[in-house]
Formats: sequence, structure tokens, C-alpha cells
Amino acid sequence: MDLFEKIQEHQQVLFCNDQSTGLKAIIAIHNTTLGPALGGCRMQPYESVDAALEDVLRLSKGMTYKCAAADVDFGGGKAVIIGDPKKDKNPELFRAFGQFVESLNGRFYTGTDMGTTPSDFVHALKETNCIVGVEEEYGGSGDSSVPTALGVIYGLKATNQAVWGSQELSGRTYAIQGLGKVGSKVAEHLLQEGADIYVTDVNQTAIDDIITTSKELGGSVKVVNDSDIYGVEADVFVPCALGGIINDATIDQLKVRAVAGSANNQLLDLRHGKALQEKGILYAPDYIVNAGGLIQVADELYEPNKARVLRKTKAIYVSLMDVYQQTMERGICTVEAANNLCEQRLESRSKRNSFFTHEKRPKWAVRC
Ligand code: NAD
Repeated sequence: MDLFEKIQEHQQVLFCNDQSTGLKAIIAIHNTTLGPALGGCRMQPYESVDAALEDVLRLSKGMTYKCAAADVDFGGGKAVIIGDPKKDKNPELFRAFGQFVESLNGRFYTGTDMGTTPSDFVHALKETNCIVGVEEEYGGSGDSSVPTALGVIYGLKATNQAVWGSQELSGRTYAIQGLGKVGSKVAEHLLQEGADIYVTDVNQTAIDDIITTSKELGGSVKVVNDSDIYGVEADVFVPCALGGIINDATIDQLKVRAVAGSANNQLLDLRHGKALQEKGILYAPDYIVNAGGLIQVADELYEPNKARVLRKTKAIYVSLMDVYQQTMERGICTVEAANNLCEQRLESRSKRNSFFTHEKRPKWAVRC
């Protein structure tokens, strides 16, 4: 396929090659209608440049929707570094990456994603200010899993309201897949509310930690094998680990009334959103539920304000209720309703401003 055909939905794709450090990276800017592009940088030993390009194009488009849904003034972008995070990282590589980000002159802001950590970007920060999500001592907003977990809690409240007519978290059972940075905080919050939880994780330490927490907080924790989590008789399935876990095989097993969690790209394919609806399971679109971390890093570029982050994260409840209402009124599935909502926001804004340039940067973009 012609390269321009492949990138036809995107505004700009930058191939970054630095011979001295061996950096090979791709930065994709999908859409800057809402503001400069924002999206993390993934590091992975991709099998080919084509595979890396495909990933960065898909992820950057996803960021356009995620930013529109979260109502932050950023567009969609993403970066990928081709390399093995266990072997190929060094400070100079991230400084070289920072120079390429800087060359975009404020059109792209980035930070951690799979395979990269906040400390990698402390090196990039020496070359560009267009970095978000580093530790607080370097001027960043710190651990993004805190607002992400809070967003999941508000997503669960909205989902409970839509299914059972009450946003109460207590009195319901939740099947949580993954007790990492986000899942463990969600589990703890649910226990505090007096809910019963089923949990699974491939990491035994994470299981041991939540059992200890439950002894302090009260509440019931039942541990199940990783493959058994889909068939648990619970009210809500809360995926907080892997993508692609809603697929033909797992939908058959689900006994829950709703799915709402933090994992990215939960549906293996868009048609699985429809399949959930046909089975009477309400699906909370992942990119709305898990936007708390994005809200926090986007806020770094204003004068940082924790109260504003909290307010915008709580608004995930309202966004989801809008989606659920559209779903009921129009008979469409929740993913379609969420995408429509984002496309409407982009369309109404594009009438005023369709292409972000450095000169047009808002006054609040104080870093660049
Ligand atoms: P994490 O790596 O801290 O936690 C993931 C957990 O899932 C780990 O404890 C891991 O052992 C477990 N796990 C892996 N494979 C599993 C399996 N087969 N069955 C059960 N458990 C398994 O990641 P995180 O930051 O907590 O993020 C969780 C999900 O939420 C990811 O999909 C991530 O992309 C998404 N997300 C996270 C954030 C954030 O702010 N951290 C923001 C948006 C989306």
C-alpha cells in the first residue's frame, strides 16, 4: 500500500533516526483540531517498521477520541521507539528522542506508555519541555494511576446507575482482572465501600497484598485463576490488565450485567461491543473510563491544580451517562455512541480551528 494511503487519516508522521544512539522512532500526529497532540511513547521490539507504523497510527487515532471524550484541549498523537526496553535503553537514546520532539515546536507532547518509565523521560526533558507525567520533583504530576483509578470508580457508579438505577457501589460484586497500579486501587476503594470482590492476577504478590488490605478494611475477597475470571457470577467485570479480553471466547463465558475497567482496547474488535449489547451486558467504553491519567497530564500544561483534575475526573460519570442515554435513545451500542459524541465535538471545533501551529498555541501552554 502507498505510504500516503496508509497515513491518510493523519496530519503528520515523523520518522526519527539517530545514528549515534541507534534511536529509531516514529511520532504520529493524528488530529490537532482540539489542540497540540498529546500521547505517550511506547518502546517495543517491533518485528518490522510496518508493525511499528501500524501501532503508532492506531494508537494516535485513539488518542484523538480519548482527548475529545475527556474534554481536554489536546489532539491525538503517539510515539513508538523500536527497541527492547530491557536491553536497548540508555540516557542518550531518550535525549535524542527529546530532540525530535522539540523539533515539532510544541505540536506534540509525550510521556510514558508501555515499555517506558517516567525516569526515561527525565533525560528527554533536558532537550524539550514538551514532556508530561514525570515525577513531581522534575515538575511533573507524578503517578497517573491515582486519577485513573478514581475515574474507574466514577465509571462504575455511572454504570451501576444505568443498570440498577442506583450509583451505590456497595451491595454489588465485582470481578477484577489485574491488581497492578490501577486495579489494586480500584479493589481497595471497592472494599472500603463494603463491596464483595473476586480478583485474579498472575503476580502472587499483588494477590497477597489485597488479601492483607481486606483484613484491615473488611469486605470479602475471593481469588480465582486467571482463566476463570470471565465466568465468575458477579455483577460487573472490571478489566484492569490486558487488551483484547472481550472477544468471541470470553463473551460466551460472561455472566455479569456490565463491563467497566481501566484496560486499554478491551474489545478485540468493534463488533464485540455489539455482541455485548446483544447479550444484555452494558459496556462502559474504555477510553472514557480510563481517562483520569490523561486528565492529570493534560492539566500539567495549565498551572497544575489538583482540584481541577479531581473535578474533571469525576465528570467521567457525566460523560458515561450521556453515552448510555444516546445508546438507549438511538438503539446503538455504547462504543458507537461514544465515538459519535467525540466526532461531534471534533466537528463543532473544526469549524473554528483545524490545524494547531506553534503560533496558535494557547496562553496556558506555558512549557514550550
Ligand atoms: P500494571 O502493569 O501496573 O498492572 C497490570 C496488572 O495486570 C499486573 O499486576 C499484572 O501482573 C496483571 N496481569 C497481567 N496479565 C494478567 C492476566 N493474564 N490475568 C490477570 N492479571 C494479569 O498496569 P496499570 O498501570 O495498573 O494499568 C492497567 C491497565 O489500565 C492497562 O491496560 C493500562 O494500559 C490501562 N491504563 C492505565 C493507566 C494508568 O494511569 N496507569 C491509564 C489508562 C489506562
